[in-house]
Amino acid sequence: MGGVKQEKDYVFHRDFTKSYPLITHGEGVYLYDSQGKRYLDASSGAVAANLGHGVGEIAEAMAQQAMKAGFVHTLRFETEVLQELAREIGELAPPTLNRVYFTSGGSEANESAIKLARQYHADRGQPGKHIAIGRWQSYHGNTMASLSAGGDIKRRKMYTPMLNHARHIYSPYCKRCPYGKTAETCQKDNTLACADDLERLIRELGPENISCFICEPIVGSQQGAGVPPEGYLRRIREICDRYEVVMIVDEVMTGFGRTGTNFAIEHFGVEPDILTFGKGVSGGYAPLAGMVVSDKLVDSLIQYGNGRFVHGYTFSGHPVSVAAGLAAVRYYREKRVRENGAQQGDYLFLRLQELQSRHAMMGEVRGKGLLLGVELLLDQEKDLHFPPGLDMAERLNQAAMERGAVFYPGTGTVDGILGNHLLVAPPLTISRAEVDELVQILDEAVTMWEEQIRA
Ligand code: PLP
Repeated sequence: MGGVKQEKDYVFHRDFTKSYPLITHGEGVYLYDSQGKRYLDASSGAVAANLGHGVGEIAEAMAQQAMKAGFVHTLRFETEVLQELAREIGELAPPTLNRVYFTSGGSEANESAIKLARQYHADRGQPGKHIAIGRWQSYHGNTMASLSAGGDIKRRKMYTPMLNHARHIYSPYCKRCPYGKTAETCQKDNTLACADDLERLIRELGPENISCFICEPIVGSQQGAGVPPEGYLRRIREICDRYEVVMIVDEVMTGFGRTGTNFAIEHFGVEPDILTFGKGVSGGYAPLAGMVVSDKLVDSLIQYGNGRFVHGYTFSGHPVSVAAGLAAVRYYREKRVRENGAQQGDYLFLRLQELQSRHAMMGEVRGKGLLLGVELLLDQEKDLHFPPGLDMAERLNQAAMERGAVFYPGTGTVDGILGNHLLVAPPLTISRAEVDELVQILDEAVTMWEEQIRA
């Protein structure tokens, strides 16, 4: 110990066991550190930097708004940028969802949605409808209500007594169905055990106690881009309607073109009551997130709730953040970013499948658009997981970082089975040549680990 303290010694690090390269700047899909090393940002940071780095238009819009008015309290006032961005998002969202509420991050967005669902029932004389149902192998954020509804077992563990007001069903996972089915048997019997379990749980707990159901339409960090089976979300919608349960779709990771459509829910032909968003809305240039709320819920709030949502944050609708969001949303449209992401996503999917055919360590390749996931296995043929605690996804990502690309490693747990995966989600602006570079680096990192495992 002792010696002169440096700036980094004052930082409460995310993980004190790690060292953190110092990033000096970014350009397109690349980040550069103080040693001059270049990293291909193969996960858009935390799947937020959808537009890549160094987009001058967004920086300028933020600076201009900061000069005009750096802070405006949305309890008393609104700004032009806020109203314009609300309109843009309302127009992108499914037709019955039109009112936009802003927060600073995705956890706050889901927190707000869960609270709005409760207020909806309370306003209508049903305060007993208080339980949120979420799913194992899902993530909705780190604040208490969001964490309660989420199914990240590692993050929940030490807080569990406080999180018990939320209950869970399993996320669909056809390859390892927690309900013991296969996609084929479900199709043959015309059943969807993973969706029907919601009905079972609602009936078990009593519909008079259930406030909302929340799910990611395509599961990000906890499943590595898990896509639900055909008909799943439609069945969930029917069940929610039957028992007056507010349906919340968490599009914090999947929104703004990430899966090839504006919102992932478009793949499934369903309209939720609340859709939450975050990350990509500002391309990661400013902390910004929020929820789009259905006309049904807003009308109820106006009619039965004195028009007032009993909630709020100091930084809700922060003018500099919404200016970033507005510039980002326009950039998506003008540069046809979503379209490029969808096209490169199809190409990357094929390239990952080709890698998988050559590597025993790579299992299922899944996802849509540029939200792709690769399952990591000790042995693909025997379908064997890595032993728990080995944290293979993290190790593989370290190997990739040494070779100049950074991915989003993850582990998901279903009843003690720890699955490793790598989320592959580069900026939607990526070019074909950059996709090839990403695949090349992943190939090298996987080859290195396979050689080590064999040795
Ligand atoms: N919901 C999903 C699906 C997420 O992936 C995340 C973050 O990773 C969140 C919510 C929480 O968002 P934030 O970290 O901005 O609070």
